[in-house]
Amino acid sequence: MVYTANIGMFKVVIVRTARMLTVVYTHLLEIHHKAMTIRTILEFPDPRLRITAAPVAKVDKRIRHLVDDMFETMYEAKGIGLAATQIDEHQRIVVMDVSEERDSPLTLINPEVEFIGDSQREHDEGCLSVPGFYETVSRPDCIRLRALNEKGDVFELEPDGLLAVCIQHELDHLNGKLFVDYLSALKRQRIRKKLEKLHRQLA
Ligand SMILES: [Zn+2]
Repeated sequence: MVYTANIGMFKVVIVRTARMLTVVYTHLLEIHHKAMTIRTILEFPDPRLRITAAPVAKVDKRIRHLVDDMFETMYEAKGIGLAATQIDEHQRIVVMDVSEERDSPLTLINPEVEFIGDSQREHDEGCLSVPGFYETVSRPDCIRLRALNEKGDVFELEPDGLLAVCIQHELDHLNGKLFVDYLSALKRQRIRKKLEKLHRQLA
C-alpha cells in the first residue's frame, strides 16, 4: 500500500511538472513568434535592389532573427524564395521553400553555386519584387550549391529543376540582379513603367 501511494504521488509530481513545462514552452513559443516581423519587400525599380550583399561573418542570434523575419515575410507573401536584399538587408542570406505543403524551409547563408554541364532549362519566373509579372528565363539546369545553414554548418546540394532555378534566382538578388535583367530592354522598360505607375497610385 505504501509503495503504491508513493508511485501515485510520483505520478502526480511528474504530470504536474510536465504540465508546467508545456505551459512554459508554449509561452516561449508565443514570445518567439511575436518577435518575428513581416518586413516590407522592395519592388523593382527600387535602386536598393541593385546593392551587392556582403558575406555573413558569423551566424549568430542576430542573423537567426533575420532568417526568422525572412521566412515570416516570404510565407506571408506566398513566395517560394526571398533574398535578404529584398527586405533591404544587404547580407548574403536566402530563405526558400519550394514544397507544395510549405513545410520544407531551406536557409542558405553565404551560398556559392557551381554549374554542372552545359544543359539549360527554360522556366517561367516571377519575383516578389516584381509583383504580377511572369516571364520565361533560361538558366543552367544542374548546379552544385555550397552554403551554411542557420546553425552555421556547411552543407552541399546538387539540385535540379525548380530548386536549381530558385537558388539561381535568389543568388542573383544577392548580386543586385533581377530576373527582368534577362529580358529584352523593351520588355524590362514596359514592366518598369507599369510598376512605377502602380507605386505612384499607391503612394
Ligand atoms: Zn526574386
